[in-house]
Amino acid sequence: LTSIGDEALIALDTLAGRAAGIVSPTLRLGVTGLSRAGKTVFITSLVHNLLHGGRLPLFEAQKSGRIAKTYLEHQPDDTVPRFQYEDHVAALVDQRIWPDSTRAISELRLTIDYESASGWGRLFSRGRLSLDIIDYPGEWLLDLPLLGKDYITFSREAVELARLPVRSDLSQQWLQLAATIDPDAPADEMTARTLADTFAAYLKAGKSDSRALSTLPPGRFLMPGDLDGSPALTFAPLPDLNDQRAKPGSLRAMMERRYEAYKTHVVKPFFREHVARLDRQIVLIDAMQALNSGPEAVQDLERALTEILACFRAGRANFLTGLLSRKIDRILIAATKADHIHHESHDRLQAIVRRLTDRAIERAALSGVDVDVVAMAAVRATREGTVKQGRDTLPVIIGTPLAGETIGGESFDGNSETAIFPGDLPADVNSLLESSSGPVNQSEVIRFVRFRPPKLERTSEGLSLSLPHIRLDRALQYLIGDHLA
Ligand code: GDP
Repeated sequence: LTSIGDEALIALDTLAGRAAGIVSPTLRLGVTGLSRAGKTVFITSLVHNLLHGGRLPLFEAQKSGRIAKTYLEHQPDDTVPRFQYEDHVAALVDQRIWPDSTRAISELRLTIDYESASGWGRLFSRGRLSLDIIDYPGEWLLDLPLLGKDYITFSREAVELARLPVRSDLSQQWLQLAATIDPDAPADEMTARTLADTFAAYLKAGKSDSRALSTLPPGRFLMPGDLDGSPALTFAPLPDLNDQRAKPGSLRAMMERRYEAYKTHVVKPFFREHVARLDRQIVLIDAMQALNSGPEAVQDLERALTEILACFRAGRANFLTGLLSRKIDRILIAATKADHIHHESHDRLQAIVRRLTDRAIERAALSGVDVDVVAMAAVRATREGTVKQGRDTLPVIIGTPLAGETIGGESFDGNSETAIFPGDLPADVNSLLESSSGPVNQSEVIRFVRFRPPKLERTSEGLSLSLPHIRLDRALQYLIGDHLA
């Protein structure tokens, strides 16, 4: 897969990190998930709750009063953008709008001073843990398999997928253009750019399409970060390549060189410098959206989760990540946005995520890592109530739908609260995972509208309280609780 040099470099990095850990304990927490899964909201709420002493009864160190102080510090990596925590809090709390989503990697260091739980530990010193939170697009993880593929294989697979009936209307423009190109013609920048642009447009169309197609690499074509427009991203697969070597100076040779540059200068450093140094990982998934869209979307979610978990797999076949998963000892799969359903359904949502995760773990052959699941809402935008309908009392959720949202023909202005009967989650997730397509049972469709962030209560001194959540404390306890013992 990679050269011995890469393996040695990662091993050295890992050792250096561990050695540094003895001096001042740090925990590097990776936060990932496909776009719109809820990464930005999760990190903002987690930090806000820790800084403002939020209600976190399942987070043991906080509950037992052992946390002395929590504060933000300068992050250790100077070249990684800082997670814009203050901007995101201002959006959520002051403006009550959702913050800008993750578009690239970013980092934030939160330091926690605590008292050890054991009398013995307290005798010696007060504990200090620096939590480095690394936010990165899940799309970038899906590039890992490219490391094992040369340009011809990449091209053949990409074209094969693009020609499948489910994608053919989206890929038509790119395939038609690519068919007119002679790979042996002299390399030309404008041709390369038009091909790359139409190929990227096709990949993006697949992401926003309601058919919920799987996310295809290269990940930076969907989330370019700071590489937008750079030569490393100005390439595309070419159809019907023969097995001969590319002619020097040809378009094919240029595309091949850029594809290899993408692997060497973009994909490998990302894994070596960021993913390989993580200690813990949370993977956010938008299970609610998938359940709402039907079997194909649920199956697609399972596929994406499998691919993501495969990146953390140990073993010789994948030694880049073999080193990595020896370091990552816990992964949490979290379904966010549980505030869209009544609490009576939370356990059912968690059971669905557990089933999806178990299947994904098995398919990804992931072993030697502890994996847990949680159904949570990093920010709770609704409260619960009941509505009488005839003789029945229905459980409802109450919130302010975003402007422009509609339900049953009624549209909302973004300022008025409304009660919604969210419906039931499917009891049998297996039927969703096995069935090929077709409508979901209408009685099992959840009524899904997006709500505005909640209005925060203020104390008598005018300070706003921390962001409300569902089970964020359970996530926190699993991810960092043992490091504050
Ligand atoms: P990212 O792309 O993974 O960074 O996703 P974001 O954190 O920006 O979340 C995408 C959108 O999902 C937000 O704009 C919200 O509309 C919604 N969202 C995320 N987390 C929550 C949550 O805990 N509760 C609710 N109600 N909505 C959420």
